[in-house]
Amino acid sequence: MPTDALTLADVLVAASVIRGKADATPLVPSSHLSERAGYEVLLKLETAQPMGAFKLRGALNAMAALPDGTPGVVCCSTGNHGRAVAYAARQRGLRCVVCRSALVPEAKVAGIRALGAEVRIIGQSQDDAARESARLCAAEGLWQIPPFDDAHVIAGQGTIGLELLAARPDLEMILVPLSGGGLAAGVALAAKAIKPQIRVVGVSMDRGAAMQASLLAGRPVEVTEYPSLADSLGGGIGLDNRLTFAMCRDLLDDVVLVSEESLRDAMQVLFHEERMVAEGASVAGIAALLTGAVRMAGPVATILTGRNLDMTGFSAVVSGRDLKIGDLIIKGKAYGA
Ligand SMILES: *Cc1c(COP(=O)(O)O)cnc(C)c1O
Repeated sequence: MPTDALTLADVLVAASVIRGKADATPLVPSSHLSERAGYEVLLKLETAQPMGAFKLRGALNAMAALPDGTPGVVCCSTGNHGRAVAYAARQRGLRCVVCRSALVPEAKVAGIRALGAEVRIIGQSQDDAARESARLCAAEGLWQIPPFDDAHVIAGQGTIGLELLAARPDLEMILVPLSGGGLAAGVALAAKAIKPQIRVVGVSMDRGAAMQASLLAGRPVEVTEYPSLADSLGGGIGLDNRLTFAMCRDLLDDVVLVSEESLRDAMQVLFHEERMVAEGASVAGIAALLTGAVRMAGPVATILTGRNLDMTGFSAVVSGRDLKIGDLIIKGKAYGA
């Protein structure tokens, strides 16, 4: 499917699908960040969504497009996408199967099982899980809902762009945490259709940023995955990417990278100054602002994409203790020190 297959009309349809279920999250100004940036900084609180992340927008929109008689859905994520799909499937009374490799921590799996989904632990890699998911589609007629490279998912995530510009037509820039690019593609599509001169910038962590590496290479490429505070931004974009690579290439004004230390600092600022809890991926835009990776006049909005974090790690970060994630060690730093 070519990029131009998706238009503002698809995002408007998605907005009507999710109305009253996963829309209208708050957009709040941060006086602390505004003061530091020298222009108004607004935070879009997707942390206030059911299941704690924006992914429900895309999942509900994809679910609404299921062919009649489809017995259920399948997906390959135990992160925020898997939770959103499991939640949306339960609301519709549909069977939901989540396929995952044996490498996924049991705590994440338990959260998805608690929503009534079946979790199939298959093999040792994401590829093994993807194969099982494809098999279930063919053998049991389940409908696959991909985490980002899907027209309905992209249109669903794009409703955030509609809400941002409806609330603040004067926005000059939107900073979007970027992984597979469903969110960035959808938001950029909607925002630029409404206000062509707005700047939309993707932000990823500085190791294993698959979309940025792909954009530089001019085609989807594989990257090594590293442990990160922004775990929701890890993973590839798919070598057979159909939509999000081209959309991010054509619609994003820039992609910038932020370090683990700047993510740590941004989580601290958000917690200590705004009393808000958000996962590492969510604060990528704040990290980009605070480190000067992006500079311009505002008003600027960034999306706090989710709040599903490990509380032990979070409390280490905000109280200034060292944090170990896999073989990554993030040095503790007391807030304000
Ligand atoms: C999925 C996710 C992202 C990235 O979205 P993509 O569409 O994959 O770019 C960012 N933040 C959080 C919390 C997420 O769950």
